[in-house]
Amino acid sequence: MLSLNRQAIALISDHADPAADVGLEEAGGQNVYVRHVGETLALLGWHVDMFTRKVHRDDPIIVQHSPHCRTIRLKAGAETYIPRDRLFEYMPEFVDSFQVFQQQQGLNYPLIHTNYWLSAWVGMELQKTSGIQLVHTYHSLGAVKYQSQVEISPIANTRLRIEREILECANCVVATSPQEQESLRSLVSTRGQIEVIPCGTDTNNFRLTSKAQARAKLRFGNHEKIILYVGRFDERKGIETLVRAFALLKVQSSQNLKLVIIGGSSDHMPDGEERKRIENIVNELGMRDFTVFTGRIGHDILPFYYTAADVCVIPSHYEPFGLVAIEAMACGVPVVASNVGGLKFTIIPEETGLLVEPKDIKAFANGIHRILFDELWAKKMSKQAALNVNQRFSWSGVTIQLSELYRHVLARSIMHDQDWSYKMPSINRSA
Ligand code: UDP
Repeated sequence: MLSLNRQAIALISDHADPAADVGLEEAGGQNVYVRHVGETLALLGWHVDMFTRKVHRDDPIIVQHSPHCRTIRLKAGAETYIPRDRLFEYMPEFVDSFQVFQQQQGLNYPLIHTNYWLSAWVGMELQKTSGIQLVHTYHSLGAVKYQSQVEISPIANTRLRIEREILECANCVVATSPQEQESLRSLVSTRGQIEVIPCGTDTNNFRLTSKAQARAKLRFGNHEKIILYVGRFDERKGIETLVRAFALLKVQSSQNLKLVIIGGSSDHMPDGEERKRIENIVNELGMRDFTVFTGRIGHDILPFYYTAADVCVIPSHYEPFGLVAIEAMACGVPVVASNVGGLKFTIIPEETGLLVEPKDIKAFANGIHRILFDELWAKKMSKQAALNVNQRFSWSGVTIQLSELYRHVLARSIMHDQDWSYKMPSINRSA
């Protein structure tokens, strides 16, 4: 339903379907970001259409999330899962499908917010033929990601080129942390406009509640020490480091330790291989009896797992933002995380969690040990963690900043104003 007094905007998220179940192969933070930003922008008065590639034949083309927010699945390549490193060749078809949809619906989006480099290419193509304003969020930056990888994808050069072009020609790029802004300036380009607006979390869903009740619901014992991982199975997530750190702790401690690993899809998907590899390591280390693999858990049940845990571990080699960190902290769970990317921005060391070097098994084991066995300090951190998220990372606060940015970009386009004198709105971020 498009109301005449609402400004229509498009969010483009090529591979990350905002209406999909998250936690499965390639469905993670970007899906959550686009969905929440879209839904909250609609509450702020915009009409929001979120475009993604249609992956399953049986999926509906349009999913209506609320009266003014919908997901639209466009034809671009076969209606089956295609890894994102092989999606670029289907992006011209994505552009065509987008334009056909616009014409059929009689719509014209004055502003498009693209997500990930493939969508950036789509946005720049659309910009060539119409006077749209372009805002972009990277979600993952090739120039940083490739530094932590041994095998570089054949698409790397194309991706790096497009990531530079979008920074230089978008009306504004949104960096989700000052660390990302720094990387963009030092590794991508000194030109182009950047504003820092973080990712957020649903603080009504992820919040402080009773640990005893969460444990009772999940049938965890009250005397267990629970170490939690939440996320996709992907080598760069560093689950192996956590599993090895857990085995080290288990050998040193007679306590009732349990490792709970949440996420993952079916065996025939590429992340099934990483899951099997991790399961094999767990078995080799003799940790099977103390480790639970739950598979994917939805955001309706996930808060119980966070609340039940004593510590949440994020051992990523590279993490552009890391929604799991703010979800865990919002539930009052201290975090032990790699000292990389957005995690440096969201976690306050010694106050809401600990940051250690990625892949350093001993450092992870020590960090987890410190939190598990200093209950007084852990309790203090729990409160500080929840407060930190409420003040800095609620979706409503974050989306108000995006909405103001869009208004500024649109106003400037009408005035043909070349001067970027934008000041981030001062808002009550815990609103
Ligand atoms: N997630 C989920 N269920 C799972 C595993 C993960 O809902 O079984 C969600 C998690 O809650 C978070 C997102 O997937 O919202 C992961 O985002 P993050 O930024 O941490 O990592 P990414 O997947 O983007 O690399």
